[in-house]
Amino acid sequence: MTLRLYYTDSYLTEFDATVLAAEPRGEHVAVLLDRTAFYPTSGGQPHDVGTLGGKPVTEVIEDDSDRVLHLVAGTVTGAVTGRIDWPRRFDHMQQHTGQHILSQAFLQVLRGQTRAVHLGAELSTLDLDIADLPAAAAAEVEDLANRMVFEDRPVIIREVDESELPELGLRRPAKTRGRIRIVDVQEFDRSACGGTHVRRTGEIGTVKLRRWERFKGGVRVEFLCGWRALRDYRWKNALVGDLAAKFTVKDQEVAAAMERLAAQGRERDRTLAGLRDQLIELEAQRRLANLQGIPRIMTEVMAGWTAEMASALAGRLAAAPSTIAVLATSDGRVVIARSADLELDAAGVLRRIMEPLGGRGGGRPAFAQGAVLPEKVAEAVAALGVEVERVLAKR
Ligand SMILES: [Zn+2]
Repeated sequence: MTLRLYYTDSYLTEFDATVLAAEPRGEHVAVLLDRTAFYPTSGGQPHDVGTLGGKPVTEVIEDDSDRVLHLVAGTVTGAVTGRIDWPRRFDHMQQHTGQHILSQAFLQVLRGQTRAVHLGAELSTLDLDIADLPAAAAAEVEDLANRMVFEDRPVIIREVDESELPELGLRRPAKTRGRIRIVDVQEFDRSACGGTHVRRTGEIGTVKLRRWERFKGGVRVEFLCGWRALRDYRWKNALVGDLAAKFTVKDQEVAAAMERLAAQGRERDRTLAGLRDQLIELEAQRRLANLQGIPRIMTEVMAGWTAEMASALAGRLAAAPSTIAVLATSDGRVVIARSADLELDAAGVLRRIMEPLGGRGGGRPAFAQGAVLPEKVAEAVAALGVEVERVLAKR
């Protein structure tokens, strides 16, 4: 068995050890040592990285027989020095010890038990057996957790025999047997845990609940501790500052300023829609007054118009009796609409003309839309006019 140095000293970043075994595993070598300060992925806490004999340690795992295997990029033998990536380890210690405190705070404030813990590279989560988490209750939990941090309480690690467990009042029952490792946040939380923790709660730094959601009948809470909380605050503060400067308001007024902007946008949309309808009505009336013959056939490429407006105009023209409108826009979109009193399959006509031109089209007998390459749109409109006249003349 490997002596796990992190059990007694989670601040040890450099250690000497002897390689007991090394075997290829994928592109790496799985190395077994007589002693190690590397923490293997377990108990919801991610593994350490670092170097062993100068070679990168990319992963550390615990196998089925409780062995700590270091996956090393390269070969190591004999006596080696191991070095732990300390910023990463300390980050894990902050999140992990913060999690102990948060779990106890949820228990005290909401009688919420922690069902599962996940400490990730970016974010960490607690799964709690509570029905919901009102913002005020979340703030109360945060306040209690941060009070424990500011009181800078000692975090004491010791080993006990499993026979002593009933008297200890653990927050969470031990998962192992025999000698059990106990983590005490002085006079606040006591649990059995094999992870790495800070010496005093002050080292955890700020504890922040970031967001939460209902999850499997309970609530999943995302939280950040220490440096992570600071980095999160930093970018959010910069973001709010940027927004406030753009709106030229105070930080606290950003949300109201955005709401005003959105309301202005909605008002503008309504005005624009009204103007658009008026424009289409005027354009329709002008064209209908100028068109001769029965039925009235109109073909036109609407320079500067959008396809959506051309469609609306075609529909409005076809609302008048005995009228057919073939309209196109400069981007190659084509619409054909006819009055209800005319017999003409607009979709069929559109397909017949567009397909030989490499375009496409489809729709209903009275209203169809299609598209063709922009350089062929004038040709398509002219051909559609001819085809419409031919079909109507046959009747
Ligand atoms: Zn722990």
